[in-house]
This record gives sequence, structure tokens and C-alpha cells, in this order.
Amino acid sequence: MIGIPGVGKTTLLSKIVKILNDNKKNVTRISFGTLMFEVAKENGLVDRDDLRKLPVTEQQRIQKIAAEKIASQNEEIMIIDTHAFINSPEGYYPGLPEHVLKIIKPTNFISISAKPEEIYNRRMTDDTRNRDKITLPNIKKELDVQSGMISACAVITGSPVKHILNSEGKVDEAANKIIKAIGL
Ligand code: ATP
Ligand code: MG
Repeated sequence: MIGIPGVGKTTLLSKIVKILNDNKKNVTRISFGTLMFEVAKENGLVDRDDLRKLPVTEQQRIQKIAAEKIASQNEEIMIIDTHAFINSPEGYYPGLPEHVLKIIKPTNFISISAKPEEIYNRRMTDDTRNRDKITLPNIKKELDVQSGMISACAVITGSPVKHILNSEGKVDEAANKIIKAIGL
């Protein structure tokens, strides 16, 4: 599951896990960023939001270790909460480059989006994160980059992409659409 910051991935995933657990289905969720941060912490990083500011080569190294940790798990259903790209000082860099896709072998992609204005407001009101400067044109640009990056992932892996709109106040609706799309 991918989407730019503030689209609601973590919120949707919590809802999906709850719905599936209520129906006695097991699902494991993994935050790619959290896994990467755990690896980076062992190397002295303190703030999660500094991950994307590390040199790209260092992010690539950590990304590979995180992907290998995911691939080594034996869970039946795993949903990974991640980004299609990272906004680094060197430019947009892929969250799921080919070498990572070859390690984790995703069967499905879910691309979450929302109205730019809603994403803007969600970012502004979420003060738990140390976010980059937020503007509406930037959010629109990021949604475009997201769309390109996830199409590339589909071509590399041959796995389908489902685009889901997480409309304001409609978390349940979007969560159910995702469950239906991936046949869970
Ligand atoms: P990040 O990539 O930074 O982790 P995220 O995609 O996981 O972001 P969330 O943390 O799930 O985004 O959501 C951001 C904020 O938007 C939260 O405050 C959440 O409660 C709110 N939010 C998410 N979905 C909706 C929705 N459908 N309606 C209203 N608010 C929402
Ligand atoms: Mg999140």
C-alpha cells in the first residue's frame, strides 16, 4: 500500500486489520519506514523524519536490509505500508526500486490518494510528524509522481495496481474497497 504522506495509509490499514480480525482472518501489517528507522537507529539516527535526508546511497543500503527482513517472514498475508517515492534533497527517489521489488515480490499494489486540499489539511493538523514545507501545488505534484512511480512498479512486477480514493470521513468505505479489491 503506497501513498504520499497524509493520504491516510496508516489510518486505513488499522481499519483493514480490524475488519479482517473481526472476521477471524489473520493479516500482518508492516511499516517499511518503521523497519528502515529501526535499522537506521542502530547506526545512530535519532529522528524518523531525518531518514529521508540521509544520502541516497545510505537510504538504499537500509532499504535493502528492510526488504530482506520482510522477505524472511513467513506470514500468509502481509500488507506493507510504504511510499512510492521519498522526497529527498537529491530529488524524488523510489520507495520500491526494482531491486527491492525483486526481494519482496508484491502480489498487489494499492495506491491511496485523496483530494489535494484534504491531504493538505490532514498534514497541517497532524503534529506528531516533522513534515516538509506543505503547499497545495507541491501536493498535486507529489500525486503525479506517485502515479508514475506505481505504474512503473506494476510494469516491473506484472502485479496489478488498484487506485483508491480515501475521501474525507469515509475511512470505512475505502477500507472495504481495498479488502474487496485484493480478495481478502
Ligand atoms: P504518512 O505517510 O506520513 O505515514 P499516512 O498516509 O499514513 O501518512 P495517516 O497518518 O494515516 O496518513 O493520516 C494522516 C491524518 O489524516 C491523520 O490525522 C488521520 O486521522 C487523517 N485521516 C486519514 N484518513 C482520513 C479520512 N478518510 N477522513 C478524515 N481524516 C483522515
Ligand atoms: Mg503512516
